Amino acid sequence: MIPSNGDRQVLLEVRNLRKYFPVRKGWGRHGQLKAVDDVSFSIFKGETLGLVGESGCGKTTVGRTIVRLYRPTGGQVLINGTDIAGMTQRQLKPFRRTMQIIFQDPYASLNPRMTVGDIVGEPLDIHGLAKGTARQRMIYDLLESVGLSEEHASRYPHEFSGGQRQRIGIARSLALHPDLIICDEPISALDVSIQAQVINLLDDLQREKGLTYLFIAHDLSMVQHISHRIGVMYLGCLVEVAGSRRLYHKPLHPYTQALLSAIPIPDPDASAQSRRIILEGDVPTPIDPPPGCPFCSRCPYVMDICRKERPPMLESEPDHFVACHLVNGPAAAGEPGSAS
Ligand code: SF4
Repeated sequence: MIPSNGDRQVLLEVRNLRKYFPVRKGWGRHGQLKAVDDVSFSIFKGETLGLVGESGCGKTTVGRTIVRLYRPTGGQVLINGTDIAGMTQRQLKPFRRTMQIIFQDPYASLNPRMTVGDIVGEPLDIHGLAKGTARQRMIYDLLESVGLSEEHASRYPHEFSGGQRQRIGIARSLALHPDLIICDEPISALDVSIQAQVINLLDDLQREKGLTYLFIAHDLSMVQHISHRIGVMYLGCLVEVAGSRRLYHKPLHPYTQALLSAIPIPDPDASAQSRRIILEGDVPTPIDPPPGCPFCSRCPYVMDICRKERPPMLESEPDHFVACHLVNGPAAAGEPGSAS
């Protein structure tokens, strides 16, 4: 499944991406933790694709596998049409300039023994892009572009707040003028009052520099704010992809409906009228999951076919992709939300 969107140019195309981790299941027995299992999507130039799902659904592994912090078990990762999934580290080097990652934890992701100037300048050094005063000027410009100043360059990470540290991480990610930035839960470790500032900064940078984002998060309301389209993951699989507004107003997959119903509504009247969907049971283990729909053990609309056949991702409505037998199959009698 590759979502289309008119004539817009695709920057990143992920095809049937899989990332399995080996696990020991007892004496001499080994299994596989299927963190990402056959995930496909595209991101257009200048677009933000939000990737959401509960903790452990595989969204962070998708991001890390795309930038090759993990080697994919299978599938393709095409950047501007070139597949980087099977490349060696040496072959990857020119592509590392194209894509960067902002990590979740601004405390752990910055080396406490390096000055901020050296942290931001490190990518320039690795790629041999600038030296001396030219390097210094570039570092100052990068700091200014994220709302910091020249005098911050000589300080150390522990002298900064969480929000400022994340700004340093963003400045570092911009050093090589990337096209694509993987934002791996960049605001979840920050105070709520700071989160909006970082989101607004990412928004401004996207407009100024034409950046493309894969924005990974579990906070659905924040993802809606920044994303043009949103993909929903469950148990290593992508289950729904649609435009941000459309997904929030007309979710089709039963899991997305449950996720959205859990978002608190500030208006007490609207909140009283909304119906919270409580899912029974726990998320199953991704170790050797059974065939069929990954959501079948918790879905209120489960059918026999759901336990046997994995539903393919299909374009259920224009630019709205869903992997669900009920939505796409002959059993569909409207939307899942209206099923008894
Ligand atoms: Fe539920 Fe079946 Fe759809 Fe899966 S395929 S979400 S189990 S109805």
